[in-house]
Amino acid sequence: MRLSQMLLVTLREDPAEAEIPSHKLLVRAGYIKRIGSGIYAYLPLMWRVLQKVSQIVREEMDATGAQECLLPQLQPSELWQESGRWDTYTKAEGIMFSLIDRQERQLGLGPTHEEVITTIARDAIRSYRQLPLNIYQIQTKFRDEIRPRFGLMRGREFIMKDAYSFHTDEESLKKTYRDMDVAYRNILTRCGLEFRPVEADSGAIGGSGSQEFMVLAEAGEDEILYTEDGKYAANVEKAVSLPADVVASPFTSYEKVATPDTATIAKLCDTLKCSSTAVVKNVLYETIYDNEIIVLVLISIRGDEDVNEVKLQNELVKLAANYDASTIISLSVADADAQQKWSSQPLPLGYIAPDLEDSYISKNKNIAPQFLRMVDQTATDLTNFVTGANESGYHVVGANWGDNFALPELVVDVRLAKSGDRAVHDPTQLLQSARGIEAGHIFQLGTKYSQAMGATYTNEQGKNEPIWMGCYGIGVSRMAQAAVEQSYDKDGIIWPVAIAPYHAIVIIPNINDQEKVQVAEKLYQELNAVGIETLLDDRKERAGVKFKDSDLIGIPYRITVGRSLSQGKVEVMTRKTKESQDIPVEEVVSTIKNWVDQAINK
Ligand code: ATP
Ligand code: MG
Repeated sequence: MRLSQMLLVTLREDPAEAEIPSHKLLVRAGYIKRIGSGIYAYLPLMWRVLQKVSQIVREEMDATGAQECLLPQLQPSELWQESGRWDTYTKAEGIMFSLIDRQERQLGLGPTHEEVITTIARDAIRSYRQLPLNIYQIQTKFRDEIRPRFGLMRGREFIMKDAYSFHTDEESLKKTYRDMDVAYRNILTRCGLEFRPVEADSGAIGGSGSQEFMVLAEAGEDEILYTEDGKYAANVEKAVSLPADVVASPFTSYEKVATPDTATIAKLCDTLKCSSTAVVKNVLYETIYDNEIIVLVLISIRGDEDVNEVKLQNELVKLAANYDASTIISLSVADADAQQKWSSQPLPLGYIAPDLEDSYISKNKNIAPQFLRMVDQTATDLTNFVTGANESGYHVVGANWGDNFALPELVVDVRLAKSGDRAVHDPTQLLQSARGIEAGHIFQLGTKYSQAMGATYTNEQGKNEPIWMGCYGIGVSRMAQAAVEQSYDKDGIIWPVAIAPYHAIVIIPNINDQEKVQVAEKLYQELNAVGIETLLDDRKERAGVKFKDSDLIGIPYRITVGRSLSQGKVEVMTRKTKESQDIPVEEVVSTIKNWVDQAINK
C-alpha cells in the first residue's frame, strides 16, 4: 500500500478524550476514530490488525476441532425469557440494548450468544452420537457498558470470539475446557502478549471452573493475586488466602466501655490497645433483589479483614429464593442516603453490634423486616472479642458468641484476600499483586442453559438428559489494544510482528530523486511479492515527518532509501530496538523475510 493513497491522519498531540497510553496512541496514529461514547470506527490500519488477531484466533480454534459459524446479532426477547435472563440483562444490569420492531416485537442486540446457540442445539442435537461439539463465531457484540472507556478496551460495540461446546457429561466438558485453555495460551503467545491465566469468579452459577486470561499491564482494570512459585494465581474477586494469626484479646470479662470518637477500627484499637484481630466489625449492606425488595445485610467479620463484594453478591444470589426473587440488581454499603430510605431511627454507625435490632428497619412492604445476618468464617472462633455496643461512642469488650451474642446461622466466606497474605497451598508463599486486562474467559457452564431451555439428548440407554455446556470468550478488539498497552515507547506503537498491520515500510526521504524512487519502488514490489506486507511512504512530505509517522504507527521494520545508496546500500531499522544498519540492496528482501518469519515462528 502507498501512503499517498491511504486514509492516514496522524496527530502530534494526545487526544483529550484518552487516558491510557494505548488509547492515546491508537487515536494519534490514526488507527481508530471515536464516533460516540464507547463506539469506534476501525480505520484501515486497525482493521488489518483486527483481522490478524482474528486469524490467529481462528487457526487456534480450528486446531481444537471447533467449527466456525455466524449467529444473528438481533435476538428475539422470547429466547431470553426462556433462559430467564431478559429482565436481568435489559433492566437489572441493563447491559443489553433492546428495541421494539414495527410489529411491536421485542428484540435485543446480542451481548453474548448462549440463548441463540442453545436454541440451535435444542433442535439439532438428538443423540449422544452427535456429541461433543464445539461451535464458535467472531463478530461484533453490543453491550451498554455503564462506563465505556479506554478506547477499544471497554467499548459498547466490540469484537469477540465466542465459542460454545456441548457434551454428554462433565468429563467430556472438562476435556474441551482443557483444550480451550491450551488454545487461549497459544493465541496470546502468538499475538506477542505477556499474560497470566488466573482462577476467576463464576458468579452464582458456581460450577467447577472458570479461568480468565489476564494481559499484564498497569492500566488493567483487574487485580490479580499470585504466588512467586507459579502455583497460584486468581482474580482478587475469587482469590483465597490464609487470614493473619489472631493476637489474643487482652479482655477477660464482658463489659461496656466508653470509646468516644472510635468509628474506625484503627482508632478503636488505638484507644483500647488491642489488635484488630480481636475485633468483630459489623458492616451494613443494602441489596435490592430483582423483585425490588430491599434487604439489609449485616455482616460480622474480623476487624482486620474486608468484605469481598463479589463473594458477598454470590451468597446473596443464592438466597434470592428466600425473598421470592431470582437475582440481585444492586449491592452497596448502606450510606447515609440509603439509610434515610429504610431506617426508622438514626443508626449507631461505627458502633453497631451483631445483634442490632430489627426495629431499626421501618415497616414497608418493599423492605424485608429483618436484617439478613451473616458471619464470616474469620469471626466465628474469636473469643473475648471487642465489638460495637449499638450506641454511639461505646463498644463492648470481652464478648463471646453464645454468651453475649447469638452466632448468625449463616456462616460464609466473604473475606477479601489481599497482597501480603499467606497462600493456602503453601503458607511460606505470600500473595503478590499485579494488574491485568481480561482478554479471555473460559467457563464450564454445566447444564444451566440446557435445563432452562430444554436442550436434551438421548443417551446410550435411550434416556433424555440435559446437554452439558461450556462457553469461551476472547476479546479480539480488546486484545489488539492490550498489545499496544504492553508495547510502546515515547515515539509510538511497537507492534508485535505477528499482528502488525504491515511488516515493513519503505521510506523515500526525497521523492524528487529519481534513482532513489526507482530503488524504493523495486524493493516495495519485491517485498510484497515474497509475502512481506509492505508500505511505501511516497508522500510529498519532509523526511522528518515520514520518520515520525513510521515510528508512531509502529511498523516493525523500516527501510530508508537514502544517502547510503551511493554504496549500493539502504538503511534498515528495527522499530523495537531502534537499531539500524546499512544492508546491500540485493540482500534486503531475504534479510527482512528471515526476520519476519522468525518473529512469527513460521
Ligand atoms: P469485563 O469484566 O471486562 O466486563 P466480561 O466478564 O463482561 O468482561 P465476558 O462476558 O467474559 O467479559 O466476555 C469475553 C471477553 O470479551 C472478555 O474477556 C473481554 O476480552 C471481551 N470484552 C468484554 N466486554 C468488553 C467490552 N465492553 N469491550 C471490549 N471487549 C470486551
Ligand atoms: Mg463485562
